[in-house]
Amino acid sequence: SARKNLKFYEIYSPELSEQLNKNFDLSLEIPRAINNREFFLTYHPKINLKSGKVEGVEALIRWLHPEKGLIPPDAFIPYIEKTSMINTVTEWVIKTAFFEIKSMEKENINTNFSVNIPLKILENPKIIRYIEAYKRNPLSIYKLELEILERDNVENFKKTASAMKDLKKLGINFSLDDYGTGYSTLSYMQQLPFDRIKIDRMFIKDIENDESMRELVQSTIDIGHTLGMEVVAEGVETIKAVEILQNMGCDYAQGYHYAKPMTYPEFIRWYKDYNST
Ligand code: C2E
Ligand code: CA
Ligand code: CA
Ligand code: CA
Repeated sequence: SARKNLKFYEIYSPELSEQLNKNFDLSLEIPRAINNREFFLTYHPKINLKSGKVEGVEALIRWLHPEKGLIPPDAFIPYIEKTSMINTVTEWVIKTAFFEIKSMEKENINTNFSVNIPLKILENPKIIRYIEAYKRNPLSIYKLELEILERDNVENFKKTASAMKDLKKLGINFSLDDYGTGYSTLSYMQQLPFDRIKIDRMFIKDIENDESMRELVQSTIDIGHTLGMEVVAEGVETIKAVEILQNMGCDYAQGYHYAKPMTYPEFIRWYKDYNST
């Protein structure tokens, strides 16, 4: 299948997103791609820094276009986020993640899983009912976590906070993604009920050599803990970075040091291997 040949397509040119923008009618391409099964999910493990165990997996979307090859999410998600197409794609992501996570149960893999959603999705009552429906069936043993970008604008804090609280009652956790890259940090953290913050890769990548980055990360971890939140470090690429973060009291890590995002069968293999060593 096309997915087996994934490595073939892993060449991404920075011009791609511009190119996509110009020659591409996403309002036609997205529904076609869904029907044509061109989207698939990759899974990126999240590691508990205290136990070393796999705590969860983050679902990350990929688009294998018949002509353009592998299109990364940054090349199309930001464009469709401004339209109603994001609802269709998010529904697809949630549906597929639930299905694949359910299949992982047969492989004795029991982890939490997280899905990236734009905040404004929560204004759509249809999506909330959609998630609720999953929580009522046996799949609910899996804890769903929703990751929301810090840079997403909140128009109505009261409304958003109440939508989040409704979902939290179902057992759903919220992570504040790309922490440190947005502008409304304090209002977000004070007014919205997040369970975790994810420190963006740009703060982690030089942590070994940059003393001031280390101080920044340490104070972010402390603020998170003070506010009763757990802290995830993204973009952890080396064992040295793992050790630094462990000493800082960071709770979880994600990054190439452990694994790159993997297709479903790749993740199953990686998980078994990780747990047997
Ligand atoms: P994100 O949620 O912050 O995801 C982390 C991104 O960093 C992923 O890129 C991942 O592959 C990459 N990454 C993780 N660890 C490392 C590392 O150690 N080194 C380096 N260099 N990179 C690392 P990806 O998959 O290209 O996703 C980019 C963004 O697209 C995501 O950022 C997320 O905001 C968005 N996205 C991905 N999938 C979805 C989706 O299904 N729905 C929505 N709405 N957005 C999505
Ligand atoms: Ca994320
Ligand atoms: Ca992130
Ligand atoms: Ca990001």
